[in-house]
Amino acid sequence: MSYVVIGGGLAGISAALTLQDAGEEVELFEASDDLGGRVRSDYIDGYILDRGFQLINSGYSELKRLQVIPEIDFCKSERTIDVVTPFGISAIGDPRLHPLQAFKSPLGSLSEKVAVLKFLGDKPNSNISLRDALLASGTGDFYENLLKPFLKGVFLTDLENVDGTYGREIIKSFVLGDSGLPRAGAGALSAALGARVENVHLNTPVQSLADFGGKRVIVATDAKTASTLLGANEVAEHTTSYTWYHSIPAGVITSKRLRVTSAVSPIVNSIAISNVVSQYAPDDRTLISSTSLEALSDYAALNEIAKFWSLAPSDFSPLRRYEIKDALPIFRPVSHGVSSSQVREGVFIAGDSLSAGSQNGALLSGRLAAMESLAH
Ligand SMILES: Cc1cc2nc3c(=O)[nH]c(=O)nc-3n(C[C@H](O)[C@H](O)[C@H](O)COP(=O)(O)OP(=O)(O)OC[C@H]3O[C@@H](n4cnc5c(N)ncnc54)[C@H](O)[C@@H]3O)c2cc1C
Repeated sequence: MSYVVIGGGLAGISAALTLQDAGEEVELFEASDDLGGRVRSDYIDGYILDRGFQLINSGYSELKRLQVIPEIDFCKSERTIDVVTPFGISAIGDPRLHPLQAFKSPLGSLSEKVAVLKFLGDKPNSNISLRDALLASGTGDFYENLLKPFLKGVFLTDLENVDGTYGREIIKSFVLGDSGLPRAGAGALSAALGARVENVHLNTPVQSLADFGGKRVIVATDAKTASTLLGANEVAEHTTSYTWYHSIPAGVITSKRLRVTSAVSPIVNSIAISNVVSQYAPDDRTLISSTSLEALSDYAALNEIAKFWSLAPSDFSPLRRYEIKDALPIFRPVSHGVSSSQVREGVFIAGDSLSAGSQNGALLSGRLAAMESLAH
């Protein structure tokens, strides 16, 4: 039996690799000029610009299975976050590494911080949002000052839109591993995995499944395209996000930490990404990556970003803005179980909207769809 995988994001790559490893004949069709989907990087004038700020968690189970981290020159990021508060910058880190720092921070009481640990260990309660689940655990001011602004940048939506059980699993997954980036940019992950796929057709958007009669097909495109190809009426709901890249002279910002603010701001986070991985900028510049969920003008975004860093807008040179449509699937607070990836005879579906909005979720969904297609 021969197989076709449509879409060369992490889900499609993972599906193709699973089939290839099982000894099957598989062709991967990708619409754009390279593999990787949402995990790609652009290389412009000595800067590495990821298509939206994202980190890779070396502890993800699928990345461990694929043994890819040693191949990508992985550089760990700091586990401490800086929160801009009306009283100055407050650092909050992984309690396992900085036990006293977490508890000394003025962002919430001791019992509110303990409540976060309790939340992570609690049994999941269904049909409740992540916001309600965290507040019900007693996280109070700590939720408002730190968890809300930080997690908004993780889920790229307000936390009342996120299912509590799903949210807890995503939070646990990055509490447990080391986050970071390859020295050649996030896209190096896709490049390393994509290089393992033997039969790839780039620049080949698939218009119809009718082209593949007699073959088993895995549709691993974005959710909208999948709906069209499969003739489905419903499309999974997604967030849109915006990432601005600016550069400033080297040495002005020395922090390697992700920065969020406890104040109301359209910018959800900002980071001097080349202080984490120096290859992201030329030696004499620092690259700043800042994310918003709002379609701000470049002017408005820069004013807000400058406030994050207590600098003047004129200190920043604009490089590029990315609008990332359908950045992440939204899993609303409803109980959902694992469903089959088979759509109809010989046709299967994969993608992060089927499992979890993460690199791990995409890889897992691809592997599961491939395994199900093999089993049929
Ligand atoms: C801004 C941002 C930040 C993120 N942060 C993190 C993070 O920190 N940690 C984390 O784990 N995850 C993060 N994610 C999520 C993660 O990147 C995604 O969940 C994952 O990459 C989705 O992979 P996918 O294969 O399901 O879909 P996609 O990557 O969207 O791949 C779909 C592919 O299908 C192709 N395609 C579409 N139509 C066709 C067609 N007709 N024919 C052929 N090919 C087609 C597309 O070109 C694309 O390559 C982030 C995502 C974004 C956007």
